[in-house]
Amino acid sequence: DTNGSKDSEKPRDKLLGGLLTADFDEDSCLSRYQSSLYRKASQYNPSQYLISKLRNYEMLHKRCGPGTEAYKSAKERLGQDELARSYSELCKYIVWVPLSGLGNRVLGLASLFLYALLTERVILVDQRSHLTDLFCEPFPGTSWLLPLDFPLMDQLDSYNQEHERCYGTMLKKHAINSTTTLSHLYIHLFSGYRDHDKTFFCEAEQTLIRKVPWLVVKSNLYFVPSLWLIPSFQTELIKLFPQKDTVFYNLARYLLHPSNQVWGMVTRSYNAYLARADERLGIQVRVFSRRAGYLQHVMDQIVACTQREKLLPEAATQEESQVTNTSRSQKLKSVLVTSLYPEYSDNLKRMFWERPTSTGEIIQVYQPSEEMFQQTDKKLHDQKALAEMYLLSLTDKLVTSAWSTFGYIAQGLGGIKPWILYKPENNTAPDPPCVRAMSMEPCFLRAPLYGCESKTATDTGKLVPFVRHCEDWIPGLKLV
Ligand code: GDP
Repeated sequence: DTNGSKDSEKPRDKLLGGLLTADFDEDSCLSRYQSSLYRKASQYNPSQYLISKLRNYEMLHKRCGPGTEAYKSAKERLGQDELARSYSELCKYIVWVPLSGLGNRVLGLASLFLYALLTERVILVDQRSHLTDLFCEPFPGTSWLLPLDFPLMDQLDSYNQEHERCYGTMLKKHAINSTTTLSHLYIHLFSGYRDHDKTFFCEAEQTLIRKVPWLVVKSNLYFVPSLWLIPSFQTELIKLFPQKDTVFYNLARYLLHPSNQVWGMVTRSYNAYLARADERLGIQVRVFSRRAGYLQHVMDQIVACTQREKLLPEAATQEESQVTNTSRSQKLKSVLVTSLYPEYSDNLKRMFWERPTSTGEIIQVYQPSEEMFQQTDKKLHDQKALAEMYLLSLTDKLVTSAWSTFGYIAQGLGGIKPWILYKPENNTAPDPPCVRAMSMEPCFLRAPLYGCESKTATDTGKLVPFVRHCEDWIPGLKLV
């Protein structure tokens, strides 16, 4: 029902309910305005307030972005802490340095973009990791790429938790207070970060950080749920996202437009294997155990989950298979499997070839790539990963793997509440094998466990009804 060639017949919502600006040249980034051809109409329209906030952000980025007078003068004052006080009239920035796998990166990026919206900063991304091979420019008439002659470029790689400009470290050493003026700060929001770094999610600390014109951030976390727990942000967030579990959905659709190369991969796969199906099922298999690869108990778990939840039919009984299927109208179900390893989809394929199905459905199994191991920063490898996340997001129903940000991107982009395969323990398939997600939002896997008033050890998952502990990782937080 989403066949590209039939687009003239149906009303198309090219701009996704006003989420996207019409100010771009269509050919420079085909996915931007073509994605609506491949997706079902959105059930979650962006709020008018979000739309106007995005249009305002676009103007801000144009005014402050690379190559402008504003950028030049902000850049010149970089490193001159004493001048930071007179900064109030200048533009403020976030420089994002991508690290770890693509799913992790995208979560960090989306979270930071929301933080930029909330704090009226301009987000610029470190382009050395070939982001342009993956994504188009999201903001019209300007660029989000950090110019290569950025004065701190040489230092970006050396920023870490121990760095003297690291906010958490300065806090620990009492080197920062309300009278300190700084032209830049490094903020570490990365798996394994310390309690001092986590105070980033506290109101009082936000008032300190707000004054600093340049923030360099390394983040691979979906920290959005914790932004909702900061009172001054919460008011604004409620206006931006009246439907609280649509944050990533809207941000991802606004921000993430696959490059023409990746889009070609997406559409070629879709047209060949998914377009004609009556129903599409995505299965994302991510194996985190020390011995990765093909594991029989993971295969058993996939079969158990998909049969129990009636996502895939069982094999026909002896009698059922005597009946020839020609009279029935046979439904075609396409199963898109993504995994580093080929065996899971090979087995499914074999299963449905050797025995007929009890429902008479025709099952087609397709896996686009089998990369065997993670090769982040290799161009084609990353492009395949993005194409597969995107393809998963175009399915009707989705099974994902616990703890995997790869799966989070697919479910969020697609607006799908997946069935999550629990993480197996002791080499056995868990029972139950999977759980239906409460919402389509990603999980903040390394969320602060306690509130900001450290003396009262408040459980951050119990402060408000819309921020809860995750299904696949209890200490994590997610919006519902
Ligand atoms: P996570 O580790 O599951 O949270 O996801 P990330 O995306 O952050 O890192 C895993 C990386 O491994 C991906 O970005 C890919 O580079 C690779 N990878 C893992 N699973 C798949 C898969 O199913 N398909 C492809 N093409 N790559 C994968």
